[in-house]
Amino acid sequence: MRLSSRKALGIAGRSLRPGRPHHAQWFLTNRCNRQCLSCLAWRNPKPAAELPAREVIRGLDILRSLGIIEVVFSGGNPLLRDDIGEILDHASRSFVTTVYDNGSLALKKLGALRNADFVAISLDSLDEAANDRTRGTGAWRSAMEAIDGLKKEGVSVAVSVLISQANLRGIVDITKSFTDMGIPVLYCLYGSDSTVEKSLFRLGARDGDLALDDRAAAARVCDELIELKRTRPGVLITTRTLRALKKYFLTGERAWSCGALRDFLMIDPGGNVAGCHLKEPGASVFDLPGAWPTRKFRELRTESAGCETCLYLCYVFYSLHSGALGHLSVLWDRRRMIASLWRSAAKSSRR
Ligand code: SF4
Ligand code: SF4
Repeated sequence: MRLSSRKALGIAGRSLRPGRPHHAQWFLTNRCNRQCLSCLAWRNPKPAAELPAREVIRGLDILRSLGIIEVVFSGGNPLLRDDIGEILDHASRSFVTTVYDNGSLALKKLGALRNADFVAISLDSLDEAANDRTRGTGAWRSAMEAIDGLKKEGVSVAVSVLISQANLRGIVDITKSFTDMGIPVLYCLYGSDSTVEKSLFRLGARDGDLALDDRAAAARVCDELIELKRTRPGVLITTRTLRALKKYFLTGERAWSCGALRDFLMIDPGGNVAGCHLKEPGASVFDLPGAWPTRKFRELRTESAGCETCLYLCYVFYSLHSGALGHLSVLWDRRRMIASLWRSAAKSSRR
């Protein structure tokens, strides 16, 4: 984790700028060393062209000037890139930086990960067999070893749980188990992209066992997580998001309008930008400052605001917490965790 008052002031200043995007996810590669049932990344017939680190860094500087405050690096597995350390080192100076791994590479790339604000390790169940049914043989063991090893090394590790029908009954237990150890838990919602024909890239694979069919049970999990948040600062989903999801599960009504290309944007390995991964690219990251105020982007924004195609949790979260007030509400929701992170970062900088 890299905390400094310069970084904090830069983020605070940019988060107050209206009419700017604040969240970016950069899919640095579509290569992966796992074959999860929920995912299309590994099914790509060939690896996508990847921008070299110096171009990613140039793109990150453009994102900062545009107003972005948070960057999430995922893929594929971004740790498969040899230059991930260089990219994280640069990103973590300006953004709240999260990087994903399935647990297979984190311990081999410790040096690269030290500056990330969150190293999110994918793990869906406390039960090894249940986890590996959807993530592949050996996934549970390597994820658990990575979580343990990162924590011992003082790297800021979090557990990333994909909520699906298959693990719905275990969400509360996995949350309690890791937050009791002081390890934050964040969440994704299973989704499938199979019906989308033209998109930035495809990510969610259709699987009947994973589709969240029991909406009443999903709504109960939202209530249980809201309850857990009262005593556990490491439950990394806001109460507002949980309330909105619960309402959606029970009534089908969305308490948000999608903020793709308004509050957030996605970038593919080649530097192409779209509002979300299900939309066609609208510009290259290098052309973004010029493209952002154009009529074409205004129309894409309006189209996204009326779109109800998906329920990917990060997109829901960004949409619900847009603008300066939205950011303040996230800070308020996470105030106890932020205070504890700041204390431990200050302690390790004194060592
Ligand atoms: S979900 Fe993540 S770890 Fe699994 S195949 Fe897809 S990119 Fe790889
Ligand atoms: S709802 Fe938003 S994030 Fe989902 S497909 Fe539509 S524009 Fe993309």
